[in-house]
Amino acid sequence: MGLEQVIKEEAARQGFPLAGITTPDPPAHLEFFERWLAAGWHGEMAYLASEHSRQRRADPRLLLPECRSILVLGVPYDPSRQEEGEKGEGNKGSIAAYAWGEDYHSVLKERLQRLAAFIEAQVGHPVPSRVYTDSAPLLERELAQRAGLGWIGKNTCLIHPRLGSYFFLAEVLLGIALQPDPSFTVDHCGSCTRCMEACPTGCIGAQRSLDARGCIAYLTIELKGAIPEELRPALGNRIFGCDVCQQVCPWNRFAPARGDQAFAPRQDVPAPDLPAELGLTADGFRRKFASSPVLRAKRSGYLRNVAVALGNVGEDAALPALEWAARANLDALVREHAQWAVERVKSRIKKGDSPQSRKERRDI
Ligand code: SF4
Repeated sequence: MGLEQVIKEEAARQGFPLAGITTPDPPAHLEFFERWLAAGWHGEMAYLASEHSRQRRADPRLLLPECRSILVLGVPYDPSRQEEGEKGEGNKGSIAAYAWGEDYHSVLKERLQRLAAFIEAQVGHPVPSRVYTDSAPLLERELAQRAGLGWIGKNTCLIHPRLGSYFFLAEVLLGIALQPDPSFTVDHCGSCTRCMEACPTGCIGAQRSLDARGCIAYLTIELKGAIPEELRPALGNRIFGCDVCQQVCPWNRFAPARGDQAFAPRQDVPAPDLPAELGLTADGFRRKFASSPVLRAKRSGYLRNVAVALGNVGEDAALPALEWAARANLDALVREHAQWAVERVKSRIKKGDSPQSRKERRDI
């Protein structure tokens, strides 16, 4: 068995069922990415446009001068289904599936380091390496496509024909020459445009581009200030990320029902009770989301999102928690979004259109 196969089999044992090999050649999508930056579609994510990142994105060898091969890996997580958790009934929020459990950065880094050590032991001499999972300026999805793992869908996710798109990507840059895998060349999206039509803010453009400034993942995680008022209704009950473009993708019908259980959902995380979340103290937030990707939003951003979700789907019973947050929360950002939500809920009650009154009408 060749070294490439030995490495892939060990990768599978270490929890990376998807593995492929490519070269550190400059990425073909670089020009496209530069145009995306020039259009300002990265919003406030200034780190993407820094000279330091641009140089490394253009030439992965700047991350590891000895790099001769890149091992690209994929780890599935539990998929979120369209029917589950996004109705907002009973004052429930919705968190994107990748963030239901442990933070992938820490879980995968340890596995990647073990895999790099295994490769060194197989080769029998020191091998320069670097390991990354969404933690370096690499065009990860292009590398994955080049390594044969799947194609980049119109929703901009990497899609594997058997596993769908609910998986994390990771890379090991290696200072040894390995035989690269054939790149994945078929575009299985065909004439489908479901993700583009379903996107709540319409931020998926032509040619597999996405205006991050309208993406709910950006608005609820990366954006640190106020969410533009005109976009708030489109968030629905989503308080951290969004899975819509993956939920509607027909290729996720084939995704396994369970992903890697290191990322299994924690209790009460996929669909939290929104009024209770609004009462989370700084300590409570840190405890609830210890070693979870949700920490990235920080408490201020998280409570801002919770307030917006209640403004969109909150039932009458949520008003006291919202009014308290609008009056007494120490964070001005949270107070402003809570006040916006109070007015939306009251306006619905006045029109007799709250989720509670709709339910009562159904029950008569
Ligand atoms: Fe491609 Fe359709 Fe999936 Fe969008 S929903 S990524 S167009 S297959």
